Amino acid sequence: MATERTLSIIKPDGLEKDLIGTIIERFEEADLQPVAMRMTRLSEREAEGFYEVHKGEPFFDELIEFMTRGPVIVMVLEGKNAIERNRMIMGATDPAEADEGTIRSDFANDVGENIVHGSDSPENAEKEIRYFFSDTDIYERNVE
Ligand code: ADP
Ligand code: MG
Repeated sequence: MATERTLSIIKPDGLEKDLIGTIIERFEEADLQPVAMRMTRLSEREAEGFYEVHKGEPFFDELIEFMTRGPVIVMVLEGKNAIERNRMIMGATDPAEADEGTIRSDFANDVGENIVHGSDSPENAEKEIRYFFSDTDIYERNVE
């Protein structure tokens, strides 16, 4: 299993529900280490750019409104097989279909407001990390 990096976002509903610590704890317990992190509030333009692939979907406007309604935490998680393992810890997009014990099953309201984002492929991880972070924002962990 290769060490990978993936982009994680705690969405506005995650902050509204005071889940920052709980969510990061789940990643740390799974040896997905944050190597970059910040709180930001997405502009409409930033949210639309980030979710460009969903432009034209019926839920697009609702998604942009949701993602811009309050601050988010954007972070880079690093670990073995990080992209797939983060998606496992998150659970399915629709919390009603998410496995028990996943973040979305435990905390999400519905398919739109589902607490977390996670990159779904190495290509998208690379692109999404670049969208928010430059090399100097990303730190080596476990070094003296
Ligand atoms: P995921 O976040 O699991 O990768 P998608 O990439 O399919 O899911 O969708 C991106 C985001 O768009 C979802 O996390 C969710 O916030 C929103 N979304 C997806 N499908 C719907 C839907 N049917 N209705 C409302 N919002 C949706
Ligand atoms: Mg997706």
